[in-house]
Amino acid sequence: MRFETKAIHSGRAVDPSTGAVSLPLHTSATFERGADGSFPFGFEYIRDANPTRSAFESAMAALEGGHEGIAFASGMAAITAVFESHPSTGRIVLPDDMYFGIRSLMDETDIGSRFDFAAVDMRDLDAVRAAVTSKRTGLVWVETPSNPMIRVVDISAICKIAHEAGAMAVVDNTWATPVLQRPLELGADAVMHSATKYIGGHSDLMAGVVVVPPTSPLEHPLRMVQKHKGSVAAPFDCWLALRGLQTLPIRMRAHCEGAQKVAEALASHPRVEKVLFPGLQDDPGHDLATRQMSDYGAMLSFIVEGGVDAAMVVAGRLKLVVRATSLGGTHSLIEHRASVEGAKSKAPGGLLRMSVGLEHPQDIIDDLMQALGATFNA
Ligand SMILES: *Cc1c(COP(=O)(O)O)cnc(C)c1O
Repeated sequence: MRFETKAIHSGRAVDPSTGAVSLPLHTSATFERGADGSFPFGFEYIRDANPTRSAFESAMAALEGGHEGIAFASGMAAITAVFESHPSTGRIVLPDDMYFGIRSLMDETDIGSRFDFAAVDMRDLDAVRAAVTSKRTGLVWVETPSNPMIRVVDISAICKIAHEAGAMAVVDNTWATPVLQRPLELGADAVMHSATKYIGGHSDLMAGVVVVPPTSPLEHPLRMVQKHKGSVAAPFDCWLALRGLQTLPIRMRAHCEGAQKVAEALASHPRVEKVLFPGLQDDPGHDLATRQMSDYGAMLSFIVEGGVDAAMVVAGRLKLVVRATSLGGTHSLIEHRASVEGAKSKAPGGLLRMSVGLEHPQDIIDDLMQALGATFNA
């Protein structure tokens, strides 16, 4: 089966008991034992496994080219599970530009003191090598393209460096999705997603998932964290995520096409200092993204001339593009990252991050152009 077909059929079949074509939502918390005490369908209790979650996990495994998917209540629960499951007590090497929630996880919970974290700019492979060899390392965490600087890093080169040092490499593939980038094929030991974003695709669910290849040492510990720590994905969220998956390939095509047009329009605006988007020829990540991804994604950042105040004026004038956090849904969203991230943010003051949605690209561009308009002088 090809990717588009898997997105619709993997993990799902016409329901043999009813003929239902769309996967039924199973909400049962418990499942009946046979007279002999066994569980005829393999399901026992909702937290251990349930039909809707298992279908979502199988579908994700198929799309990422992995063996098993393990679904959690959120992307952050999936990340926490990976940190808690990595096989050694060694250091965790992270990118210095990454999803801000990981920094908060380290700063605001016990995770920060339980593990030894080191952050590096992963565009610099020598810096990655130095970080994983200077101290025993168990896990290298990769995010590409990254938040909010939209940096592209070389997954296969980083995996090789990690493996030479005896560490595992896990890729947060939330922004690229398996439509654009398949880290397991590039040597990653696991792939993680916030399904809240493109997988769900409609900003109406929360879930996370980790996909592992066959015989992964992460599989059992991740299952145990899922089952016993219990931050599992709810059946309804898995059902929505499965619905979202069916249109993921075509949505990504439209997202990418729109983002390319928006990026080009922004790049030609005199009040935009810089557009960070690998689809632009002069972007430092362009060549690598061309090799590593099948398209450039739909997340971009741009830096407004005039810093924080100017960026806030522009965001405040938008009428169609919604000022909100998150990404990957049908609505175009914009966010001033420096104010969201607070004092520890490294985001430039003038930076606005955009998730380009599925509205007509010209309507998005018209809104941005009127907001950037000639009249502001912040
Ligand atoms: C949103 C996001 C997460 C966290 O996922 P939640 O579902 O919000 O917990 C992790 N990584 C990336 C890249 C994200 O965009």
